[in-house]
Amino acid sequence: MNLKQQQYINGKWVNSISGKTRDIINPFNQEVIATVPEGDESDAKAAIAAAREAFDNGGWASTPATERGTIVRKIAELIERDKEELARLETLDTAKTIEESRGDMDDIAGVFRYYAELADKNGGELIDSPVPNSISKVVREPVGVCGQITPWNYPLLQASWKLAPALATGNTLIMKPSEITPLTTIKVFELIEEAGVPAGVANLVLGTGNRVGSELASNMDVDLISFTGGIVTGKKIMQAASVNVKNLALELGGKNPNIIFADADFETAVDQALNGVFFHAGQICSAGTRLIIEESIHDEFVNALVERVKKIKLGSGFEEDTQMGPLISAEHLAKVESYVETGINEGAVLAAGGSRPNDPELKNGFFYLPTIFTDCTTDMSIVQEEAFGPVITVEKFSVEEEAVELANDSIYGLAGGVWTNDITKAERCVAKMRMGTVWINEFNLYFPHAPWGGFKQSGIGRELGRPGIEEYTETKHIFQNLKPEPINWF
Ligand code: NAD
Repeated sequence: MNLKQQQYINGKWVNSISGKTRDIINPFNQEVIATVPEGDESDAKAAIAAAREAFDNGGWASTPATERGTIVRKIAELIERDKEELARLETLDTAKTIEESRGDMDDIAGVFRYYAELADKNGGELIDSPVPNSISKVVREPVGVCGQITPWNYPLLQASWKLAPALATGNTLIMKPSEITPLTTIKVFELIEEAGVPAGVANLVLGTGNRVGSELASNMDVDLISFTGGIVTGKKIMQAASVNVKNLALELGGKNPNIIFADADFETAVDQALNGVFFHAGQICSAGTRLIIEESIHDEFVNALVERVKKIKLGSGFEEDTQMGPLISAEHLAKVESYVETGINEGAVLAAGGSRPNDPELKNGFFYLPTIFTDCTTDMSIVQEEAFGPVITVEKFSVEEEAVELANDSIYGLAGGVWTNDITKAERCVAKMRMGTVWINEFNLYFPHAPWGGFKQSGIGRELGRPGIEEYTETKHIFQNLKPEPINWF
């Protein structure tokens, strides 16, 4: 493999200080595809020290924003140049289909391009000062040293949402990818180096969340922690980050409702309900795993789903006809299996799937059949908790208010969808849905220009769009008295 397979700290490719390594496994066949350093707290501290020095005494923050934008644009160009290699690495590491990985790489280059364009458009604001003879202005400055922690489901996509705005605004950073899917992030750091980002500005540390991630979250020299991952980890990070009141950005889980009204275009809604869940075997934070279907079309809709689900082709992500790959790991497969078992025990009815496939060609991969549960109710834990796998739960409703009420009955608020040809009804629902993204006659679409993030326990802050770059800046008010004179109060 033409990849450094090292950490990148202070402009140098290095092994872990302890000398420990970790094998990276292909989830399709459990073969070892790479061996990378397993960093720990000491590696994280070295990277934090480098990032601190680069921020406090290096020139990145004061580099003209236009120049930073040019470098971020260069990273986008290099990603486009190496798109096929990156896509293949992502499919090896996550086992998602190569077409999905190629799409991810286009999106990732787009994220770098978008923030390259915004780099020099963060100028401040002149305030209409209420004080005579004064100038009041607001400027935006980089936050400082940023810790960035990413998950395994969209390894490089999630990394790009953090790297591009942080670099564009003049921060320095330490990134820690998921320990099980670090390969494309390593590759992008090769490109970051090639693009000319100065030493110490962007650092990559590999290792577990408990060792490297928690050091980033709790270290006094880190000014901001940006985390994408599960809710349990998010809460720990929030707590750890309180030691020095770090700026905090959390992109956590979702249990996303997809409401289907009887007047929706039936075929499109069925098709998109499947797309909303089964891409990347359901391992998507915004997957529309909670189908909420109007009573009058419920049976017909479920039958159509079941027919289509039976035909989903599982296999290697590199085969052209594969539609769905395996889950990410043995541990995650066990979690999905236990979730399905819970559903059966709770009284939900299995309409499709519910087991591993028995195809001998898939036996070495962490495969699970696309699964549909009907007769679900909001008090069931399978309706409330993320399976983060290829599992749909179906609930029924009879009136519009009930659909919205069901959709909002969740601790999460990441995303949701409404399918209907009555646009007024759609707008009424959307106005009441407590989620960061709501789609009308669409599901799972996103682009870098619009913000992404969650209401409620799905997170804090927004990535992408303008808010995604504002998270990496501090706002400073500068007031100048043009005619200073004594007040003579004391
Ligand atoms: P996870 O929380 O287990 O791990 C995410 C990252 O956090 C990994 O890099 C991990 O090593 C690190 N980590 C683990 N424990 C840590 C600790 N104590 N301190 C610091 N870092 C720690 O999540 P996962 O299983 O990798 O990813 C799946 C989750 O991510 C799902 O819940 C999914 O919904 C969520 N997700 C959310 C979004 C979003 O945009 N909201 C996007 C993708 C994934």
